[in-house]
Amino acid sequence: MIGIFGGTFDPVHYGHLRSALEVKDIFGLTEVRLIPCANPPHREQPAVTAEMRLQMLELAIKKQPGLKIDTRELDRYDQHQAPSYMVDTLESLRQEFPADPLLLFIGTDAFKQLTGWHQWQRLFDYAHIVVMTRPGFETQKLDDFFKARLAVDIKELAQAPAGKLCFQQVTQLDISATAIRDIIATKQNPGFLLPDAVIEYIMQNKLYETH
Ligand code: ATP
Repeated sequence: MIGIFGGTFDPVHYGHLRSALEVKDIFGLTEVRLIPCANPPHREQPAVTAEMRLQMLELAIKKQPGLKIDTRELDRYDQHQAPSYMVDTLESLRQEFPADPLLLFIGTDAFKQLTGWHQWQRLFDYAHIVVMTRPGFETQKLDDFFKARLAVDIKELAQAPAGKLCFQQVTQLDISATAIRDIIATKQNPGFLLPDAVIEYIMQNKLYETH
């Protein structure tokens, strides 16, 4: 089973890293692939270049062999300058891994917007979707499309390569890249929100100094 964790990582922080590591253990995954987005269709363009976001990711996961960086969205953008649609990413992962269960991890904020993603129903043709929640998150208000796919037990995810929806509580760290960019722009100290190696890189390259 392979985990997929997409994001802008502008910059990567402990909220991303802790949840990626935690779901790797909870679901017994061989690896979690962190996939930086080149050209996010749903939001403002990243504050720094793709190359720099990638270098920060590399520094962040150096000592975590279970976390891998997958550059297929950046590579695709270099070739076609097309938006980074998750459905295309999952389709290409499925070609590479024809039989493994693929688990796409998203936060509750991303789940709320999922039905706005390009060809969102097709995501379930290629992967399971796991929503990382905080305690007390309400799942009752799901519409029928989601209810039909809801896994009662996480073991169901190992039994099929794709198609299930599940909610998994993870340790919540109230950290966002937006807050980190603001902290740096206002000359405060971002220590303990993201790895020191990433902070050093940001300082050396004078990133995020202005809004
Ligand atoms: P920004 O503040 O720039 O929007 P972000 O911190 O939310 O960035 P993204 O790279 O946009 O980070 O998020 C990628 C994925 O990581 C999304 O699925 C998001 O829900 C999840 N995520 C972001 N922050 C956290 C966090 N603190 N804990 C767990 N998951 C997170």
